[in-house]
Amino acid sequence: MLSYDAGVLSAIERVYGYEYSVFLDAISRPSSRMYARVNTLRISVEEVVDRLRARGLAVFLDEELDEAIYFFVEGPFAIELQDYDKIVVADKYAAESVYLGSNLYAPGVIRCSNSVRVGDEVTVVTVDGRPIAKGVSMINCRDVRSVRRGIAVEVLKSIYRAPKIIELPEYRAGLIYPQSLAAMYTVRALDPKPGSVVVDTCAAPGGKTGHIVEYTLGKALVFAFDHSRRRLNEMRGVLDRLGHTPLVELWRADSRYLHTDFSWIGADRIIVDPPCTSLGVRPKLYDTKNYSDIVSASRYQIQFLKSASKILKVGGIMVYSTCTITIEENEEVIEQLIGEDRCLKVVDTEIRRGSRGVATPHSHAFTRFHPHVHDTTGYFIAKIAKVC
Ligand code: SAH
Repeated sequence: MLSYDAGVLSAIERVYGYEYSVFLDAISRPSSRMYARVNTLRISVEEVVDRLRARGLAVFLDEELDEAIYFFVEGPFAIELQDYDKIVVADKYAAESVYLGSNLYAPGVIRCSNSVRVGDEVTVVTVDGRPIAKGVSMINCRDVRSVRRGIAVEVLKSIYRAPKIIELPEYRAGLIYPQSLAAMYTVRALDPKPGSVVVDTCAAPGGKTGHIVEYTLGKALVFAFDHSRRRLNEMRGVLDRLGHTPLVELWRADSRYLHTDFSWIGADRIIVDPPCTSLGVRPKLYDTKNYSDIVSASRYQIQFLKSASKILKVGGIMVYSTCTITIEENEEVIEQLIGEDRCLKVVDTEIRRGSRGVATPHSHAFTRFHPHVHDTTGYFIAKIAKVC
């Protein structure tokens, strides 16, 4: 159930041409692999793999990225809804995890059948009534408003099945962090060095910040910014679990104004991973987007880049990434940036995976991951150098 207006559909068609329906089909399904990053400051990849295998999990090492491990996603399995089933309705975010076999947590419950009691068999459905999983209720429906945390439905069968990573002891101990393969290439492209100053402008919940800390062996001065209090709180939890809290300067800021509010920072490396239309994120059970979302996202994105470029040292490197596929939010944002500042130059991402950008003069230097081609999130990475 993707409701995209004509402008969004033509933005997709601009990238994928007649394959655009194959793309839409791919984002409604999960990738066949679910990735996690190993916190190499705490444990070796081999040791964590041994521990997970001892737990009976089938886990594999990525072919190229040393810090990446993955599990296979199984499915699809049929989940049917009978008239007499008791139902629990999950919000979009929760439903997309339950679809992959996660348990349903209390904050993700929108409503449920009045008769649902602890121990009942229930069917988890989306807001538009599609069944996605069967499980056992851990709550009485009448208490649902007062229960704020914990598992609401223990999922036994779902359309897709992948390990419940966030319930693993290795996750709780901060040894692994779920992250898409494509996202891991962002920090790889950045290649931050120990002893340098690194800035993450849109950092929460901290996936890439954590990766920067590990990649620099905890020896870089890392500044991480985000504007959302809620997401910063989540990020504090992530950094605590990973053991990275003392290694990151975390600030609440509007990163469109870093050049005025934090003008004293001189960064060697900057990541700009701004809000975007997220068209590449999968699996999507439903989504609504209008062309105006693309236009406003791209205006916002260029502001982050311009501000970041002013706190970047001469000789410094900035990496821009998004989890969307529109040319408007990707190649064209970068072309506009470098077109307006002669000191900024595109350099090759030097990523061997995925494919190159599309449509614009510097597209050969960018990296794209296509969901239906590379079996990943739809993702874009560009690398920019400041030369004067
Ligand atoms: N880099 C993160 C994901 C970032 S998503 C990771 O890898 O985990 C984009 C983030 O941009 C969101 O957390 C959002 O809160 C933040 N954001 C949105 N507007 C912002 C602004 N004006 N200034 C700083 N951060 C902003």
